[in-house]
Amino acid sequence: MAELPPLPADPLADEVRGLAERLRLGERARAIDRDREFPRTEFRALGEARMLGLHVPSRLGGRGLPLPRVGTLLFHLAYHGGTAFAKLSLQPEFCAVLADHGAPEIVDEWFRPMMRGERLVGNQMTEPGAGSDAAAIGLRAERTPEGYRLTGTKSEVAFATEADAAIVYGRCDAASKGISAYLVPQDRARVERELGAPDLGERWQRRGTVRYAGATVPRENLLGPEGAGLDLARAELVRERALLASIYLGVARASWDETVLYVEERRAFGRTLREQEAVAFPLVEDGAALEAARLYVDRALENVEAGRPADAITAMAKWLAVEAALRTLDHAIQFHGGRGYSGGLPHERRWRDVRSGAIAHGPSEVMHLVAARHLWPKPRP
Ligand SMILES: Cc1cc2nc3c(=O)[nH]c(=O)nc-3n(C[C@H](O)[C@H](O)[C@H](O)COP(=O)(O)OP(=O)(O)OC[C@H]3O[C@@H](n4cnc5c(N)ncnc54)[C@H](O)[C@@H]3O)c2cc1C
Repeated sequence: MAELPPLPADPLADEVRGLAERLRLGERARAIDRDREFPRTEFRALGEARMLGLHVPSRLGGRGLPLPRVGTLLFHLAYHGGTAFAKLSLQPEFCAVLADHGAPEIVDEWFRPMMRGERLVGNQMTEPGAGSDAAAIGLRAERTPEGYRLTGTKSEVAFATEADAAIVYGRCDAASKGISAYLVPQDRARVERELGAPDLGERWQRRGTVRYAGATVPRENLLGPEGAGLDLARAELVRERALLASIYLGVARASWDETVLYVEERRAFGRTLREQEAVAFPLVEDGAALEAARLYVDRALENVEAGRPADAITAMAKWLAVEAALRTLDHAIQFHGGRGYSGGLPHERRWRDVRSGAIAHGPSEVMHLVAARHLWPKPRP
């Protein structure tokens, strides 16, 4: 019998597994991919179980766990239920700009209900002409006597037709055209939402386009100082990249475990697959790569938690985790043969889901750029 290495330990790991079993997250992951469904029921259930915003302080309804523990629990959630539910658990952290910089009444109206899984808040940064290069954002935010009027288009965004509100990044005329963040309820007049074409993976995110044709928000919906939007978002990205890395590794570990067990049973050419070195050696390598990446991700999370500089290590943690996870998932598909390629097994879906990690929250090339800037901080004369 194969001896699988233990999963990373945490006092709440059993609770996560129990929740995943009760909510049948493994099966639901398959259904929400097939139906392109946003899992509102599970979002609510995660909120009730206090599994949303694990790092969020208790005064805002979270568990206030240190980041390395959050990473471990997201790993477990992803191991049992795939990327979807682990990313939903992270959604409040993705909205840290709202929690940390929103006026108290805005936090009460939007952030606390999100912690209970009752309201969904998205992030809208990307535009047709500004993706990796967020500094090129062109959505206009004009000051009015009451607040701001927004004009422009956000594209590629998750929950395009699903979010109850979104943190929208726009160029503010009153801040010498600096970029600011605004909380925008999505049911306001002059907000037009459109679901995009189906994605390769992560279909439950229901990405699409949101057009602002002069939509207005009151002044208190500005998050943080005018013109500071990108700095606030970048601070948050450092943390979320390393937590996403934990999720990708958890998903890949599930397929690795399943494959290690499968190749022990499956026979071809008179032997089990595990007796073929061309099968056994890549699996041994994948096990080592996943664990090495997990230790690196842990180190990145420790650095963020301790307030040490972490831009470079978190950027490379995401890259490293995505690479290790995609290679492992590709081997899982391969060694399950024809069935591995089919939707009857989870490996192809997991590969499709994790593939987004090389693009979303900063493409892999940009992760290298971030790390290189820290390695060679000063421009050459
Ligand atoms: C599943 C998913 C969910 C998403 N959710 C959201 C969301 O909720 N909100 C939101 O605002 N956006 C969201 N996005 C959009 C995502 O943030 C952007 O796709 C990403 O920032 C890249 O921007 P872009 O697509 O415009 O690519 P571009 O900026 O056009 O880049 C295209 C490619 O060029 C390469 N590249 C770019 N810059 C460099 C460089 N400097 N050096 C080398 N190579 C480079 C990379 O390979 C990159 O993938 C999501 C994307 C995905 C896939």
